[in-house]
Amino acid sequence: MALHTLTEDGYLGWTCPKCSQDRREHISHEAIKAVLPFPEAPIHTRLVQTPACSCGMRVDLKVDFTPEELAAPNMIDAQGQPTPSHATAHRHMALARQMIASGKRPNIAPTD
Ligand SMILES: [Zn+2]
Repeated sequence: MALHTLTEDGYLGWTCPKCSQDRREHISHEAIKAVLPFPEAPIHTRLVQTPACSCGMRVDLKVDFTPEELAAPNMIDAQGQPTPSHATAHRHMALARQMIASGKRPNIAPTD
């Protein structure tokens, strides 16, 4: 699941994967939060949850990528060019930076 838009002033845009409704919310929305998928998860696995859609669907966005993930074939094509997935990964990493800048951190502190 992916954001198709992230504006510099903090608006997230995505399409609900269940009902295909276009959604747009500001990063300050109380239901937009950084989470770790489970308590022991390393910090690079954190996700950002979106508010629930009117259909009830909530979306988890992966916001951290390792260098290996960013260099994988789905991210860089055979000609060495970044793919649309690469642009999405960078959009999600930018979301993580905006979350931190706005004071929204994962609800569990990293242990390392
Ligand atoms: Zn929906």
